[in-house]
Amino acid sequence: MLLYLEPSSNGLKRSSLELITAARAVAGGSTITGLVIGATEEQLAVAGEYGLQECIVITGTTPQQAGNSNVAKIIADTATELGTKTVLFAANSTGKDVAPRTAVRLQAAIIPDCVELHGTTGAIEAVRPVFAGKAFQRLSSTTPTTVFTLRPNVFTAKKSDAPVQTAVRSKTVTIGADVRTTVVTNTTLNQGSLDVAEADIVVSGGRGLKAPEHFNLVEDLANALGGAVGASRAVVDAGWRPHREQVGQTGKTVSPTMYVACGISGAVQHLAGMSSSKIIVAINKDKDAPIFKVADYGIVGDVFDVLPKLTAKISALTSHN
Ligand SMILES: Cc1cc2nc3c(=O)[nH]c(=O)nc-3n(C[C@H](O)[C@H](O)[C@H](O)COP(=O)(O)OP(=O)(O)OC[C@H]3O[C@@H](n4cnc5c(N)ncnc54)[C@H](O)[C@@H]3O)c2cc1C
Repeated sequence: MLLYLEPSSNGLKRSSLELITAARAVAGGSTITGLVIGATEEQLAVAGEYGLQECIVITGTTPQQAGNSNVAKIIADTATELGTKTVLFAANSTGKDVAPRTAVRLQAAIIPDCVELHGTTGAIEAVRPVFAGKAFQRLSSTTPTTVFTLRPNVFTAKKSDAPVQTAVRSKTVTIGADVRTTVVTNTTLNQGSLDVAEADIVVSGGRGLKAPEHFNLVEDLANALGGAVGASRAVVDAGWRPHREQVGQTGKTVSPTMYVACGISGAVQHLAGMSSSKIIVAINKDKDAPIFKVADYGIVGDVFDVLPKLTAKISALTSHN
């Protein structure tokens, strides 16, 4: 099996660790191989704890320099060299772009946005949500190679009971003239703030906040809990919050330990992005709001009254620890 892994500042992205965990369950006897572009040995140190047997480190380029079309070529060429039957990606913004390109190059079927994998490599059945999470499809493919993308935050990353020493192999790639797009500049937004898809706690706000300047109430609770700020599409469309914070069918899928929905009605498209959260807390002044149907804890109340009190209580608790 070949896994496309992405480095983070202190190791590998959580979505990459989820890929390794998911691969362990379906690898059967086959070797789990990672492919990562431009990671250091320190960044890869964590991979063995999760059971990654070998990793190919691509040197001589970066994903930004190469562009997604060339990243797909690198992965497809490596899959062909290895005779891989299964290629896994995270269904994040990178995976959603690179995986289909890789599948085309390999003439492979692609099964996107999987939430379960069953079987063993070469004969994997995958489950994926359809109709905004109202139904699930179970799929297998008939092509010799299959590309899967796994929905982030669904396959919980777990260290292996039998950690291994990952065998690291370098492969130098030279990108020629076939670069179709070039990254001109990279701008880091909100440096230091947590990505909603990676955070363990997410506090999201909706139209119930009434105006963008009231989002400080959501930010304060998120800070007190050490979490990230999310948003409903209604407030993103209104320009109150950036699209990167949007949770839902056309935003990000999150599955944190705790999700707090503040002034969010709980439309099916919003639920599609957060209903797999471990604990859901809803604050809404309408006791019949659909969000209460999925909430583990519900507060029927006004966000302007509840949020400052909740933040003060949590800050007091955390300051005592
Ligand atoms: C194709 C498609 C894709 C979509 N994708 C997404 C998506 O990815 N993510 C997403 O979120 N939506 C998505 N939507 C939009 C979705 O249908 C809803 O319109 C949206 O989620 C509503 O956002 P909201 O809950 O903030 O606003 P509203 O539905 O207006 O709800 C506001 C809630 O706040 C409560 N409220 C009001 N005042 C207060 C107060 N003072 N205190 C407490 N509660 C209060 C109200 O009771 C209400 O329940 C999509 C829609 C379509 C058609």
